Amino acid sequence: MYELIVIGGGPAGMLGAATAGKNGLKVALLEKNDALGKKLYITGSGRCNVTNSGIIDDFPKSVVSNGKFMYSAFAAFSNLQLINLMVSLGVKVKVERNSRVFPASDRSADIVGALHKHLLENQVEIRLNTGVREILVKDRQVCGVVLKDGSLIKGSKVILAVGGRLLQSDWFDRRRVQNGKEARAQHCRAAPSPGTFNNG
Ligand SMILES: Cc1cc2nc3c(=O)[nH]c(=O)nc-3n(C[C@H](O)[C@H](O)[C@H](O)COP(=O)(O)OP(=O)(O)OC[C@H]3O[C@@H](n4cnc5c(N)ncnc54)[C@H](O)[C@@H]3O)c2cc1C
Repeated sequence: MYELIVIGGGPAGMLGAATAGKNGLKVALLEKNDALGKKLYITGSGRCNVTNSGIIDDFPKSVVSNGKFMYSAFAAFSNLQLINLMVSLGVKVKVERNSRVFPASDRSADIVGALHKHLLENQVEIRLNTGVREILVKDRQVCGVVLKDGSLIKGSKVILAVGGRLLQSDWFDRRRVQNGKEARAQHCRAAPSPGTFNNG
């Protein structure tokens, strides 16, 4: 029985799981792929524009819609806190034009590796090749998840961090990423909608 199950091993899931582990929770991170952070590897053309060193009050303006919604998230974990975390995990960073922050190595793999290390340091159990089919809710309480192979993992809380959709563009060959649709609790009524442009 886990105190927290995190579904999705992208940057959101990895940070959420590691933070919960650091706070003493027994955490499982479930990722359907055979590796963590596969999308993160291709970000910034393989260099990963990890954050921006600008003033955080300006960040909501860069969010496609409803930027004000992001104020509390940006305040709770700021760009500087992220940079400090990366440095503490051994990743040197550099600032380029328009205040964009990259790993000094120009390798997104270093960011993925740092987040992986963060998970291990905080005793998160990582399960790869583990796709979730359903979140179980009983008497309005989360009680676990059902995997795609039909097996059950018990847990009293769930973070759903399965990513979102991308806006379509010719740059991305008009393919659409739809990975937000599989793992949804029955009570979740909001359909996923694009939150980022896919031009890197
Ligand atoms: C080409 C490209 C370039 C980009 N460049 C940058 C950049 O330079 N800087 C930047 O900040 N952002 C960039 N982005 C955006 C960035 O990649 C996303 O904002 C980020 O990956 C979102 O993280 P996430 O953890 O929410 O989702 P994701 O990274 O999508 O991770 C979600 C994870 O959940 C897993 N998953 C999905 N469904 C299930 C399931 N049912 N069961 C178990 N696991 C599941 C997926 O396999 C995936 O690993 C770029 C995106 C693209 C496509």
